[in-house]
Amino acid sequence: MSDCLFCKIVNDEIPARKVFENEHVLAFHDIAPQANVHILIIPKKHLATMNDLTAEDAHLMGEIHLAAKQLAEETGISESGYRLINNCGEDGGQVVFHIHYHLMGGEKLGRLNG
Ligand code: C5P
Repeated sequence: MSDCLFCKIVNDEIPARKVFENEHVLAFHDIAPQANVHILIIPKKHLATMNDLTAEDAHLMGEIHLAAKQLAEETGISESGYRLINNCGEDGGQVVFHIHYHLMGGEKLGRLNG
């Protein structure tokens, strides 16, 4: 999608600190990290939100989880623990409308329910 920020990162039209890439998945450091480790993992294919997923994307979602596991190992947060978050839609706090998963850790994260 031509005006999508994360599609532009996929296509190297804007820079990002990439840390993982395969045929279908890309990961890069969040530009404004909210934890010591804060990496975004995205499908290369443009899907605006989780609402756009279909059964065809089942394997892709598995690949994203496997990338998260690998990146957690590589950044040394596997044992201490981490969070993998998808914000969906306005109420979910989604700002960039290309599906992405926040891999966050490297410190004790606050409880989601206060
Ligand atoms: O889930 P949400 O849509 O709110 O998250 C978007 C994330 O994309 C933010 O954490 C923001 O810092 C990040 N971002 C980025 N690089 C950009 C633009 C936004 O890492 N060029």
